[in-house]
Amino acid sequence: MAGGVSKAVLNAMDIGANSFALFLKSPRRWESPPIKEEEAVEFKRLCEKYGYNPRTDVLPHGSYFINLATPDAEKEEKAYGGFIDDLHRCEKLDIGLYNFHPGSSLDGDHKVAIKQLAKNINRAISETKFVKIVIENMAGHGNLIGSDLQDIRDVIDMVEDKSRVGVCIDTCHTFAAGYDIADTEKWEAFWKQFEDIVGWEHLSAIHLNDSKAPLGANRDLHQSLGQGFLGLEVFRIIANDERLQNIPIILETPVGKDDLIYGEEIKLLEWLKDKKADDADFVEKAAELQSLGSKDRAEQLKKQQTKKEKATKAPKRKKNGSDILSLLAKKPKTES
Ligand SMILES: [Zn+2]
Repeated sequence: MAGGVSKAVLNAMDIGANSFALFLKSPRRWESPPIKEEEAVEFKRLCEKYGYNPRTDVLPHGSYFINLATPDAEKEEKAYGGFIDDLHRCEKLDIGLYNFHPGSSLDGDHKVAIKQLAKNINRAISETKFVKIVIENMAGHGNLIGSDLQDIRDVIDMVEDKSRVGVCIDTCHTFAAGYDIADTEKWEAFWKQFEDIVGWEHLSAIHLNDSKAPLGANRDLHQSLGQGFLGLEVFRIIANDERLQNIPIILETPVGKDDLIYGEEIKLLEWLKDKKADDADFVEKAAELQSLGSKDRAEQLKKQQTKKEKATKAPKRKKNGSDILSLLAKKPKTES
């Protein structure tokens, strides 16, 4: 969106995307100037021109520091202000979906935090017209809400208008939270759980990332497709899973300075369509990408090992709220 929200449409077009994400304002600042009327008109005009339906094909990402579940009432009110402002921006652009991180109970009671989050979602729905609030699943660090699918179910249970709440499954977060999805059998087992606990009707989007950290590491570290601990196989499965048709599938893989990398990953996903797990060219590609990520994986494995050793030696230090809040406020380095 650098240069205005309408630029996001052109950038998506340039890399061959048929859906895209964007920030509606700077994700690291509370206040941002409102979207100008002419920018909104231009955004809608370009979406129409290039065949993006803003109601279904665009999935903005909320600010990282919005924590609607914080036990601090003053901070909650401020977070709600940022949240509702984002939703109003969506509706100004005719955007139908809005993805956000459900936040953290910090040092408060987890159940109370979930109730508070649902209350804020209900309030936001009553103050907007159509935008669907999409809860992203989390990697399981600290007291984050939404690392366990049951948390998401509990929130949805308390939302009055269930047609206005959805779920985004981030492949990296899922894996880091301890749900293995790396092959067909595990992928199916995960979705069976999803179906039983959350329900297919709420699946609104996918965030597509490999994981730099191993299974269950609770680390939110995105990696390029095929280079992480997930490997290329799950992305082959995704490219061929009919159930994921017609929802936005958003890449949040590391790009460095070059956004065009997304274009290459989109091409890779298109190439994976109709590939079989034992196709020679697929096997070769999967091995090639794994070797590109081997250094990063080794580094993370070592970190996990040291963490485990420390945990067995020293008694566990209780994390205080401000520690975790500062983590929440920090944009993950690899997420964009
Ligand atoms: Zn994500």
